[in-house]
Amino acid sequence: MVLRPNSLKRSLEVCDGFGRSITPSYGLEQDAPQDAKMKTRTIRLVRPPTSDEPGVLCITDGNKSTFYVFREIPCEIGGRAFAVHRLGLGSLYHVRVGAPVECTCECMGYLSKGRCKHIQGLLALTGHGMV
Ligand SMILES: [Zn+2]
Repeated sequence: MVLRPNSLKRSLEVCDGFGRSITPSYGLEQDAPQDAKMKTRTIRLVRPPTSDEPGVLCITDGNKSTFYVFREIPCEIGGRAFAVHRLGLGSLYHVRVGAPVECTCECMGYLSKGRCKHIQGLLALTGHGMV
């Protein structure tokens, strides 16, 4: 009789404490994947690379499409490396894809989040044997 209200009270306090400290960060973590899911990102191989011509790929984020010219470059440290040149803006990124530990990119997205659409896109293409 005496124990039950006590343990109930304690568990309520623990729950409340967790609720307060976890809810905000949980909410933030929830936002990112939901946002990413809502924005449909697709990658399209516009033109496969040949021995003398670079390939062209298109990454569509929601309703925004960005075209990239890319070619594979030699990579001796694991994975496959691509020089990816964003059309129109002159940004050149060296993107490496392979096992998760082998994925790197030079863009701001990768530098801040550790993942980016270039890696995601090239992983999709290499994963499907399209390049
Ligand atoms: Zn990137």
